[in-house]
Amino acid sequence: MAAFRDFVADVLELEGAAVEPVEPDGLQLLAPDAIRKAMGWPELARLGFGAALPRDAIPIGLEGDWLERFGALLGQRGRWAERQLTLPASTAQLADPERVLDRALDLPNAVWRFHAVTATWTRCLLLTFRYTALSDEKREGLVWLGFNLGTGAVLDEVFERLRPSMRGDTGWQPPEPDIRIAAGPAWDAATLERRVRPLLDARVRDALSPFLRAMRARLERDRSRVHHYHDDLRAASLRRLAALDGADGDKAEAERRRETLRVAAIEREHLAKLDDLRHNYALRVTVDWVQALELYLPVQRIDVQVRRRKGERLIRLDWHRMARLTEPPPCDWGLGLDRVRLVCDDKLHLTEPAGQAACVSCGRAYCRACHPVACPRCATAVRSAD
Ligand SMILES: [Zn+2]
Ligand SMILES: [Zn+2]
Repeated sequence: MAAFRDFVADVLELEGAAVEPVEPDGLQLLAPDAIRKAMGWPELARLGFGAALPRDAIPIGLEGDWLERFGALLGQRGRWAERQLTLPASTAQLADPERVLDRALDLPNAVWRFHAVTATWTRCLLLTFRYTALSDEKREGLVWLGFNLGTGAVLDEVFERLRPSMRGDTGWQPPEPDIRIAAGPAWDAATLERRVRPLLDARVRDALSPFLRAMRARLERDRSRVHHYHDDLRAASLRRLAALDGADGDKAEAERRRETLRVAAIEREHLAKLDDLRHNYALRVTVDWVQALELYLPVQRIDVQVRRRKGERLIRLDWHRMARLTEPPPCDWGLGLDRVRLVCDDKLHLTEPAGQAACVSCGRAYCRACHPVACPRCATAVRSAD
């Protein structure tokens, strides 16, 4: 809980409180008006974070609504930040671009040729989202999306490598005006939406898949229990009815009527129970944007010529100096998370392999970047990238 206590101390100090640590595992503070109102504390308050509390302390934990109250106190601050990474002059440059490209590019139906490499700056965006999935149980978590706004690449591996250094301050500074210009413009809202939505969707699905699997297993188990229970009841009733077959008289007739009503009631109850289960297991997922970090990074931009049949096209990908890693090649269709790209005949689009696949209906192979909506031959609609 020490990290949580430090976080709370930072937030409260930012809000103008005078904060001092007290043992065991607590804080003592003199709270200004705004904090007293937001948190419901007296002017002089003691907070406790551990199992053992300081005398007269208010227990603060991750449970309850404390996180929400601290969030409300922070408001929109801390949602967006920008940093420039400055490397020491001695940091290695890219020595052998061809060798690096050999590992970075996998173009089964095209050839490539190294063209040029330039040292430059690029603007990258790291977005954090929180998801909450609610059905019979609840699951929460964070997902990160990273983009190189200069080349359009998705930067999973690059950010994985940068993350440890981002915890410290070394090398990170506010961006200088000329570097901001050199790094190129940010994406407009439409581009951001077009790129973020499918990737976010895939990430959240990925993150939730174990939760969904477990949920489906519980649903299946409950459904089969409900089914067996009602099936046994119904079978018993039907047996009693069969035994009455051929029996005459008022008594047999009354019993027959009673059993028939009972079978109908069992069937009704079965349907109602299935409805309850559907309700109980209905899944609701919400995703909220938490934070954006804009990063100005020194890169070496590699120009590569891609050739397919008679056509050729210049593509760019960045080698990130700090991460010492080439990003995945551009992708005109699909999420483009791995390195394999097929090249289309007409416009030399680079797509995920599925982007050049045969139509499910007429069997003709076509480029989903050229024809994003439907097959050009039979007009069967394109399936989504994931
Ligand atoms: Zn077709
Ligand atoms: Zn194409």
